[in-house]
Amino acid sequence: MTSDPAPIVAAALPADLLDELEAVYKDIHAHPELSMQERRTAGIAAGWLEHLGCEVMRDVGGTGVVGLLRNGEGPTVLLRADMDALPMQETTGLPYASETRGVDRFGQDGFVTHSCGHDMHVAWLLGATRILAENRSAWRGTVMVVFQPGEETGEGARAMIEDGMVRRFPRPVVALGQHLSPDPAGTIGWRAGAIMSASDSWEVTIFGRGAHGSMPEKSIDPIVMAASAVLNLQTIVSRQIGMEEEAVVTVGSLHAGTSENTIPEEALLRLNVRSFNEQVRARVLEGIRRIFRAGALGAGADREPAIAVLGEHPATRNDEAATRLVAGAFATHFGTDRVHEMPRVTASEDFGLFGAAWGIPSVFWFVGGTDPAVLDAAERDHAQVPGNHNPAFAPTLHPTIETGVRAMLAAAGLWLAPKGGAA
Ligand code: ZN
Ligand code: ZN
Repeated sequence: MTSDPAPIVAAALPADLLDELEAVYKDIHAHPELSMQERRTAGIAAGWLEHLGCEVMRDVGGTGVVGLLRNGEGPTVLLRADMDALPMQETTGLPYASETRGVDRFGQDGFVTHSCGHDMHVAWLLGATRILAENRSAWRGTVMVVFQPGEETGEGARAMIEDGMVRRFPRPVVALGQHLSPDPAGTIGWRAGAIMSASDSWEVTIFGRGAHGSMPEKSIDPIVMAASAVLNLQTIVSRQIGMEEEAVVTVGSLHAGTSENTIPEEALLRLNVRSFNEQVRARVLEGIRRIFRAGALGAGADREPAIAVLGEHPATRNDEAATRLVAGAFATHFGTDRVHEMPRVTASEDFGLFGAAWGIPSVFWFVGGTDPAVLDAAERDHAQVPGNHNPAFAPTLHPTIETGVRAMLAAAGLWLAPKGGAA
């Protein structure tokens, strides 16, 4: 350890806290909940916050929880963790692996797994809140602890904001969040500016006209329209977006028809778009609309395709100045060998909506969770280490837990430190 400018961050966390966080992590991991259904997890978080003396508001935007830890005059700092898991079957073989089932928003019943690490995010934030609650002389101001539902579906942050976050709670000076990554456990990745892509998910219904498969002239074939659209969509990035810009268009689901000799009435596609800047995003989305409209026109369909938005994540943009401060605090607390500037990632987040709602800077960073020995073995064997959204994603508990708790405290301490801080 080098010098410690924000005394909130203990060099070592209390052993009983680590035991508690390990237990709560394993419990939440074994009992994952799908997006917007995080009732049990929210109950655990709210119970902790109440026990620590926070003012607690439950059911914010569905299952969201907001805790206010007030400690005199000073800035408010928003700390956020998301709580939801994913619809897939865990294959880690861990003793605390999930066997939980659930029904997703499309009505599909299946297994549920914390394969994005949001269980770790909850444990980190509970730990950071306990340290803050028990060391009030080391800081001043208000900590706004946010446990958010529905990150994976892009619904949760929006739902909390629409439930009056800005009106109901004090205006923070900064919003801070962190995500578990498959990088070596105990390391931190940061980046100023755009760090994660925008994501837009759409469901498109193509309307045709059904007929016997032997009489295509009586039909307007939605399968041919869908097939043509899928190929045409790939020309948007290759022909309408310049080589210095980036975007991805993926059709991840395509359903139509039941039997081989019947032309169905409709085809249903679900697609996803990733982009890093607003102009590119708008151009790609407009290109998609045009292709579907043109396909219907070309086929002589009676109706234009219907487009429903399944989810939207804005690009995650880290405030330049605030991020450099946070990165500096990480380097001080963890040493430069554990802290690195990272490339942009194409995954997406709705964390940025909180900063945007208040018009305040936000900073989001990544904390590694893979045992370095596992990474070394994988490199030797030219194998892949399971990352986020992989059913075998199995973060090592230490030092992952303590790194996330201390990273959150190191960052928050910049604004909460008694001598004015960074506000
Ligand atoms: Zn995820
Ligand atoms: Zn995630």
